[in-house]
Amino acid sequence: MFDRVAILDWSASGVPKTGKDSIWIGVSDASGTSSHNIATRGEAEAAVLALAQEAILTGERLLIGADLNFGAPAGLASHLTGKAEAMALWAWLAERIADDARNRSTYRAIAAEMNATLPGGGPFWGNGGKADIDGLPRKKPALPDWLAEHRRCDQQSKAEGLSPKSLWQLAGAGAVGAQSLLGMPMLHRLKAALGADCAVWPFDPIEGKAIVIAEIYAAFIGPDVKALEARGKIRDAAEVELLSAALWNLAQSDRLAPLFQIDAATEILREEGWTLGTGHGPTLRAAIPASQLPPRLRDDCFAMPQGVAWVPVDEALERLKAALAPVTGTEALQTNIACGRILAADCIARRSNPPRPNSAVDGYGFAHAATKAGVNRLPLVAGRAAAGQPFEGTVPPGHAVRILTGAILPEGVDTVVLEEDCATDSASVTFDGPAKPRANTRKAGEDVVEGAVALKAGQRLRAPDLALLSALGIAEATVHRPLRVGVLSTGDEIIATPDKPALPHQIYDANRPMLLALARQWGHTAVDLGHAPDRPSVITRKLDRAAREVDVVLTSGGASAGDEDHVSRLLREEGTLSSWRIAMKPGRPLALALWKGVPVIGLPGNPVAALVCALIFGRPALSKLAGGDWTSPQGFTVPSAFTKSKKPGRREYLRARINADGAAEVFASEGSGRISGLSWADGIVELPDGGAEIAPGTPVRYIPYASFGLT
Ligand code: AMP
Ligand code: MG
Repeated sequence: MFDRVAILDWSASGVPKTGKDSIWIGVSDASGTSSHNIATRGEAEAAVLALAQEAILTGERLLIGADLNFGAPAGLASHLTGKAEAMALWAWLAERIADDARNRSTYRAIAAEMNATLPGGGPFWGNGGKADIDGLPRKKPALPDWLAEHRRCDQQSKAEGLSPKSLWQLAGAGAVGAQSLLGMPMLHRLKAALGADCAVWPFDPIEGKAIVIAEIYAAFIGPDVKALEARGKIRDAAEVELLSAALWNLAQSDRLAPLFQIDAATEILREEGWTLGTGHGPTLRAAIPASQLPPRLRDDCFAMPQGVAWVPVDEALERLKAALAPVTGTEALQTNIACGRILAADCIARRSNPPRPNSAVDGYGFAHAATKAGVNRLPLVAGRAAAGQPFEGTVPPGHAVRILTGAILPEGVDTVVLEEDCATDSASVTFDGPAKPRANTRKAGEDVVEGAVALKAGQRLRAPDLALLSALGIAEATVHRPLRVGVLSTGDEIIATPDKPALPHQIYDANRPMLLALARQWGHTAVDLGHAPDRPSVITRKLDRAAREVDVVLTSGGASAGDEDHVSRLLREEGTLSSWRIAMKPGRPLALALWKGVPVIGLPGNPVAALVCALIFGRPALSKLAGGDWTSPQGFTVPSAFTKSKKPGRREYLRARINADGAAEVFASEGSGRISGLSWADGIVELPDGGAEIAPGTPVRYIPYASFGLT
């Protein structure tokens, strides 16, 4: 849709200024992303115009995003100009606001002028200057009832948890008002200079236009900006780089178009404008290329020490665990919709469970101290204590109260007898003592105490965990965003999908559907990267796309060291490949590398080996990258139903299932091309690294598919 995206972060500074809170322009195109800092609005306007003219000359399409309000809340434009159009307001402001080459401007005086035409002293307020300005209040005034505080798009962003400021506010942290008053005249001049080649969205049709200018809002990608800021990057630079990279990325496929489709009345759009990306924050964030985010894995993270020939499985797992770190950003999510997500921070109990001492049964409550051995007959107080309906009074010693399960123990009650153990008339209750002190009651916090760690970072939330979080009053959790796992198959012989014809020398891609489904079942976002023939240029293109769109790539095929093993050759040329020769069967070298900062796990092409390597190495690796705990599958010791003489040296994985006698039988053939055995099996038998003589009845370790999260 666009060949280039430029993002403008504007400023209302009254003097030339660079660094934080000044003007930044970020540009992304096929050659990458860059940003630069500009000291004055005049120079910035010239720079944007130059970018646009260059695009027109070269026949490229350019999207310019500007982080300022393109319109005012409905009512102002028509009040001032007689036309309910943002662009009429632009012209009105352009005619009146002076803004010189040293950033000295008259926007405050013009704001005061606008205020003078309206009742109530506002709507514009806030004065960042020292001198008072007549007609521009320092404090927020009341608005006329026909003027809203926020535009419709900002109202939507507020509803989604962001905090856009009102155009009326001209000063204070994050205020966009002054920038917008100075930005609208700039947009007016740009549009006039570019003429018919330029469309301003959502006011003009954008179809076929070389230059499209739209409003954007950096808060849509706020958490990622913060992550870069935490590493010392200037916030404004991070904003323009990440936004331009994300939008450019989306523009390379059909993923940008939906952002231009909005569901709001035409009149509102024409007068208020709309922020591109409203409601699409997750899409934008997901489109930020990993290469723009803080590097989390070191280039040499997969390196093996010199001279290591074969690595035992356990050592390989330890090395992989040490090499990997979470690569996904985090976000706050309502806990009730967070099932399947991985906690990025511990969850702290906001209240105790139970919050107050209560009764565990239906029965009668009283103070234990006033009871005795033998028959007790206690007069009943009027009323009762039930769950959700506390007994308000105090139960005097020697008296009892009717109490139901879950009811808070009333004042004066510390012990409850079960109603089945009592006789009662309406005036008293009788039971055999002695009662055990505090019998049938639950202590406050006996389950979890307020302030305790309820769940730890790294845990994937399951249905029962939601029950716990809810019970403890935890409405929101910091979770990792889902890990994007790209799956790529390689090989000249592979046909991508079985709905296409295949020649005798061709085979259908078995690994890709399997690996995509696994990634999904493990709770990640699976991204189908398709199939690449054994051609380095195509594999390169696919990996480049992957580096923009996913957090980790699983490839299958071409990962050994042979003539046709192009994946490993390319990764080696990039300089980061490490081939791990793991002492296991099935499985050939596991190729581990970073491609433009994105980890690539090269699995064997053989479907049997691909699955085993994915289960043993892929699953814990992806879990760690996703921010979760390192996972080890739970195995069970069961009698064998087969006979095998195993040589020492390599750990072996056999396709297996449990027979009617509870013993593990294995698939008839160990042939690594026998895909039917994968499907026949319900799990795998893991035979130890050393030698073993196995006969029917010998204990073996059986790991059900379910232990690998495979259903
Ligand atoms: P490679 O690792 O590329 O040498 O492939 C090893 C074996 O696995 C060859 O017989 C390939 O044809 C086969 N193979 C590779 N990729 C796939 C795939 N995606 N689906 C089914 N078989 C595959
Ligand atoms: Mg191959």
